[in-house]
Amino acid sequence: MAGVINLKTMTGNKKKYYDLLIHARAMVLNQLHFHSDEALNKNDSDQENRGMGTHMADQGDSNLREMELQLMTEEGNVVRLIEDAIQRLENDEYGTCQDCGGEIPEARLEMKPYAVYCVKCKRIREENNGVNPYVD
Ligand SMILES: [Zn+2]
Repeated sequence: MAGVINLKTMTGNKKKYYDLLIHARAMVLNQLHFHSDEALNKNDSDQENRGMGTHMADQGDSNLREMELQLMTEEGNVVRLIEDAIQRLENDEYGTCQDCGGEIPEARLEMKPYAVYCVKCKRIREENNGVNPYVD
């Protein structure tokens, strides 16, 4: 959980990124609630049809629910990334690639304010199943 930021001390880019992060977090939380409602509604109808306690092992609708749960997991991860980014903003470590220490370009941060890696390192990780063989 990120601490409280004194907005008065934040100016220029820092303020801009903070706003972007807060906005992004609100959007993802919205989606998360939407998908968890969907998943819960499915649970309800399953319980009506098939009784309590068995819905987790049900076939049929379960694929759809798995998709919802998958989305929720991804959205939960993004929320964590956003919280981390807010933390880095507080610590004045924001905008630095976690792999190479290089600066993450402003255009990339504006598109994805919780980006942790520069484009180059991100690509290296994508090509290596999410790990960067050049660091630790
Ligand atoms: Zn990098």
